[in-house]
Amino acid sequence: MSHIDRRSFAKLSLLATAAAAFPLHAESQQPLRFAPVGLGTISNIFMDACSKSSKCKVTALVTGHAAEKAPKYEALYGISPKNVYNYENYDEIAHNPDIDAVYIGLPNSMHAEYTIRAAKAGKHVLCEKPMAISSAECRQMIDACRQHNVKLMIAYRVHYDPMWQQIRNMARSGDLGQLQGFQGGFYGSKTSGWRLDRKLAGGGSLLDLGIYPLNTIRWIAGEEPASYSAQVATRIPGPRFASVEESIEFTMKFPSGMLASSGSSYGEDGGSYVSIDGADGNLWVEPAFYYEGLKFHGSTLHGPVSEASSGIKPYQFVYEADHFADCVRHNREPDTPGEEGLKDLLAMESIYRAAGAPIA
Ligand code: NAD
Repeated sequence: MSHIDRRSFAKLSLLATAAAAFPLHAESQQPLRFAPVGLGTISNIFMDACSKSSKCKVTALVTGHAAEKAPKYEALYGISPKNVYNYENYDEIAHNPDIDAVYIGLPNSMHAEYTIRAAKAGKHVLCEKPMAISSAECRQMIDACRQHNVKLMIAYRVHYDPMWQQIRNMARSGDLGQLQGFQGGFYGSKTSGWRLDRKLAGGGSLLDLGIYPLNTIRWIAGEEPASYSAQVATRIPGPRFASVEESIEFTMKFPSGMLASSGSSYGEDGGSYVSIDGADGNLWVEPAFYYEGLKFHGSTLHGPVSEASSGIKPYQFVYEADHFADCVRHNREPDTPGEEGLKDLLAMESIYRAAGAPIA
């Protein structure tokens, strides 16, 4: 074999190995075929996003209420009734070539089990935030996906929003001078159902809402918080907030000396915002975490800035799903892999510990 022959042979072998590891995507440009797991609010939005994407498609469903929910989605998205699974026969997705990936839209405490079962079935996983209800579960999910050679991405839609990417680029490229600190928060309206049950939610407003400013601040800071202080409070007496906190405020100090303070609440109707403060400028993003209508304004070293996003729901989910499809197709690591979800869980465990209300 000549030198060139050997090189070509080596290259062909590499391509063959890659194709064997990720068969569908190396050989075709077909949309990535999803099975959403749990057909609630967020899966509904995700399915709508897939219908607006050229890179993704919903081809199967996993639900505990097939008779009630499946016919609507079968009709909307052309899903075959043979591709409808429940939580008991979920593992059989392993034998269904119409499914490349699952989208986990279940209550938080179910994310780990259904991610690990998908990995064992050889299916890639796009999992909603929070990744799980403990850092230990996150590690098990990462290990399972690595062991079974499937991608794992956490659905942090903020990272895939073009306006947020622009904001982050400005902050990190020095447009505000040296970054000094952050304030943020997500103060939502009243909630109910599984979010108030610690067994299913894992925690209160922090895991559901506070995770948005936490993750966004960590993303822009580019460092992991080194120390924390925090307070939890619940003003509504009675059983509603018996197992999870209503409100939480926390501060974080980063190794560089940057400070951040943020919070979340199920009781305070306070909207969502992030303030990014540099030594020579500031960006104020509000609303910061809604599905549409995002805006920012501020002052930079180059002058005043202000912008309103023209994106219409579910545009963030389309960008997010497309990124995941590209990662699977081209065997790339997602921008928000399982390790990113793990870092948030570690931070939230530290925040709860600082507040005297540990979750792990
Ligand atoms: P939801 O209550 O609307 O839907 C949950 C689904 O899980 C339902 O279809 C329900 O039938 C099913 N389910 C299965 N077992 C269940 C059980 N034991 N108890 C309750 N429901 C059960 O919830 P959602 O708002 O769609 O949230 C689902 C996940 O998505 C959560 O992890 C949440 O944090 C996340 N989420 C993310 C965003 C985002 O913008 N990225 C927004 C909302 C929710």
